[in-house]
Amino acid sequence: MSHPTDGSCIFCKIVAGQLPCFKLFEDETTIAFMDINPVNPGHALAVAKGHWPTVDVIPADVLGDVARTAQRVAKAALAALEPTGVNLLQSNGPGAGQSVPHLHVHILPRYPDDKVRLNWVYEPGDKAEIAAICERLKAVLA
Ligand code: 5GP
Ligand code: ZN
Repeated sequence: MSHPTDGSCIFCKIVAGQLPCFKLFEDETTIAFMDINPVNPGHALAVAKGHWPTVDVIPADVLGDVARTAQRVAKAALAALEPTGVNLLQSNGPGAGQSVPHLHVHILPRYPDDKVRLNWVYEPGDKAEIAAICERLKAVLA
């Protein structure tokens, strides 16, 4: 199946077999491999084979395929590594910390006292502001 590629993209090169990876799984539209800078043992990536940078431009069916592959890897990590939990993380744009602009989902097995920090704090929001932003989003969703 043909998909968009970018000759300067690291993940496109991995998909094309031009760069090595520790491959976990592959199907028609996705590939999963180990992250080369693991934040935790078992840190893996579920990656679209096509070069779509972010969630707003990838076709919805391919995003679904990536989610299915991420679930598959997460289940394998839970069974094989017995972590205390798993985070799935997907970043879009440099402002969100995305360093490789080719859509991917991190599978992050979690262990007690690990170094992963998803460090926002829960504080009750202003209800009027929540409601106003809800309306702005619904106007675009409609
Ligand atoms: P992001 O910052 O875009 O959410 O995540 C990119 C991830 O890709 C990082 O966790 C980084 O370690 C990983 N990465 C970058 N280059 C390579 C590579 O050449 N091979 C592999 N396997 N992972 C890579
Ligand atoms: Zn790419």
